[in-house]
Amino acid sequence: MPAETRLFLCRSDNYGVLLHDPETGATATIDAPEAAPIEAALKATGWKLTDILVTHHHADHTDGIRALKDKHKCRVVAPAGEAAKIPAVDKTVREGDKVQVGKLAADVIETPGHTAGHIAYWFDRDKLAFVGDTLFSIGCGRVIEGTPEQMWRSLVKLRGLPDVTRIFCGHEYTGANIRFARTIEPNNKALAVREAQAKQQIAKSEPTIPTTIGEEKQANPFLRADVPEVAAGVGMAGKPAAEVFAEIRARKNRF
Ligand SMILES: [Zn+2]
Repeated sequence: MPAETRLFLCRSDNYGVLLHDPETGATATIDAPEAAPIEAALKATGWKLTDILVTHHHADHTDGIRALKDKHKCRVVAPAGEAAKIPAVDKTVREGDKVQVGKLAADVIETPGHTAGHIAYWFDRDKLAFVGDTLFSIGCGRVIEGTPEQMWRSLVKLRGLPDVTRIFCGHEYTGANIRFARTIEPNNKALAVREAQAKQQIAKSEPTIPTTIGEEKQANPFLRADVPEVAAGVGMAGKPAAEVFAEIRARKNRF
């Protein structure tokens, strides 16, 4: 049976998401920005929390862990590189490890850059990826603990997932990301289509995610640093992709 998901806002612009295996009843929350909206989503669905899958140590992804763990006795899975900064960890994972949520199986993909130990969870059978603050729709996370080159390699890894992969990210930043992306690729038709779609979604207070790898490859400038038009657009024709990426990321920080 296919995995089910439920997406909801937490804090101001964080996303919470539940992943449910209808066959076994197992349910994971990906990160735990705050306990109350996660509890509300569990109540609304009737699902029982069995696992917390943590992508990275930032407080807006981990503040709810302790309360959820106390109440549900769920298992906390966290990146090996950051487990010391994350509360109540039961199991640490790294690149290539498998994580089960009931019968749903994820591969762990290490995606350093935003934080040094950041990971993503890739559910191959259901073509779902939970990417935390590495990749956003039409954007990417700030490079806080790693280097731009590391972040570029992490994004290239995610870009290699199948086009149909649905991407759940940690924040609703799509509107601002599109405004910035238009300054890098003003003539990108896929980006114009995405802008029109996102405007409608935002006007109706609907989430702009999940997005897909296929859509992001066409319109997200941070996944396109090795496209000649993008390099030329920032005056860096012929430069290595990681340098082009660093320039785009620097411009976004100032935007
Ligand atoms: Zn973060």
